[in-house]
Amino acid sequence: MKSAEPLADEHFRDELSNVDRDGKRLFIFPKKPKGKYYDYRTWFSWFLMALMFSGPFLKFEGKPLLLLNVLERKFIIFGMVFWPQDLNLFAVLMLSFVLFIVLFTVLFGRVWCGWACPQTIFMEMLFRKVEYLIDGDYQKQKKLKEQNWNGEKIFKRGLKHTTFWILSFLIANTFLGYIIGIDELKLLVVDGPMAHMGKFASLLIFTTVFYFVFAHLRELVCIFICPYGRLQGLMLDKNSMVVAYDFVRGEPRGKIKKHEEEAPKGDCIDCKLCVHVCPTGIDIRNGTQLECINCTACIDACDEVMVKIDKPKGLVRFASLNNINEGTKLGLNLRNGAYGIVLALLFGVFLYMLITRKQIETTLLRTPGMLYQKQEEGKISNLYSIEFVNKTFKELPIELKLIEPKGEIRLVDGQSIMVHKETVGKSSFFLVINANEVKRVSTPVVVEVWSDGKLIETMNSKFNGPIFSAHKDSEEEHEKDKVDHDKDKK
Ligand code: SF4
Ligand code: SF4
Repeated sequence: MKSAEPLADEHFRDELSNVDRDGKRLFIFPKKPKGKYYDYRTWFSWFLMALMFSGPFLKFEGKPLLLLNVLERKFIIFGMVFWPQDLNLFAVLMLSFVLFIVLFTVLFGRVWCGWACPQTIFMEMLFRKVEYLIDGDYQKQKKLKEQNWNGEKIFKRGLKHTTFWILSFLIANTFLGYIIGIDELKLLVVDGPMAHMGKFASLLIFTTVFYFVFAHLRELVCIFICPYGRLQGLMLDKNSMVVAYDFVRGEPRGKIKKHEEEAPKGDCIDCKLCVHVCPTGIDIRNGTQLECINCTACIDACDEVMVKIDKPKGLVRFASLNNINEGTKLGLNLRNGAYGIVLALLFGVFLYMLITRKQIETTLLRTPGMLYQKQEEGKISNLYSIEFVNKTFKELPIELKLIEPKGEIRLVDGQSIMVHKETVGKSSFFLVINANEVKRVSTPVVVEVWSDGKLIETMNSKFNGPIFSAHKDSEEEHEKDKVDHDKDKK
């Protein structure tokens, strides 16, 4: 069995494919990819782009399906409104999401980057295609870059960068649509930029950033800027499924020479097509590298070569290092199965939290700084504040029912409670009970919150009564009451 150590240029881990020895950037001109995986990616990308561009227009019950308004701290995900009060839920979801990403990467490598990341999708399926259309394939692009400025170069550069700018403007509009909502964005179009200078400035800034990213930064985003890309080295192990070169089968590599008796060679004919198509400019034959975004362009390129030289496809394929070393195929093993179960559980928890999430949050507090009030006919009362966060898109009439102790609820303003949609509603009420119902200094209170005949929440609080009128069962209870009383005062 051959070694699993790096195979080719021993300096490849000390150098970057897109930086020369003086530290100057080398612009990458990848060869136009074609093949089975590229077709799959193209279809999948069109599907995702259709979702992405139509997203701001999709509504549910008159509200956007997805709104990420970070400025007003308002988030709508699949029609559900998330408030700052949902921070705990959000934190748990984020933790689950991060764990999900880590496990997914351990299992499947950087598949997200090559197949679903908006950066790759826009770059490879929009901007790169425009570039191939205007400038031609990689050799023509190189030639155009090197040639002096003339009519052809000015025309092509002008056309390409104008198209890039228009595409960036479209993406920026979509991006802004997710932040402020499509209705606000329409106002910008209808009223004109002068009436919404802030939004218009944001639109221009986003457009410029996207243009700079897709026209100039390109693979630098995946290699240097994206934190997920930088962390993936920590997440991968020898069982992770990645785009990999089968060095056991491919080495020793060498060009095919006719009419020549040679020592037996591996299947790699050193044509370097896998390198030419790589959008990050690496040689996958050197092993798994941070720069690889698992775009599979090298698989397509190598498969085409293998067909031509009458060898089996898959010299470059999805495989783990252990698969290649041991000559096994990708399959389910204990580790993958266990991680898969954890992923499914996480997804289940995520769904459960979403489905069982409360649409109305209620907070009940005995008004601080007040003890109790003596009322007529030997009754006593406590004053309470109650707050409702209505996360729904409809007005909610609220009814309070006192479950424990016996008594009545008197709203301070005497009106019924109505909480308007997507707002925080507040109210105050007196809880009035007979003095002889007060068994302790601090009597437990249970209040049910109802709306439209549905029980929304059961709230607990305490009722403070006069310490000397309370019936004491024992000295012990008296002491406990005192402690409760002191706590309440604090
Ligand atoms: S090595 Fe292959 S899969 Fe990785 S980025 Fe380059 S072409 Fe894509
Ligand atoms: S495309 Fe295949 S045969 Fe050609 S250099 Fe790459 S691995 Fe070797």
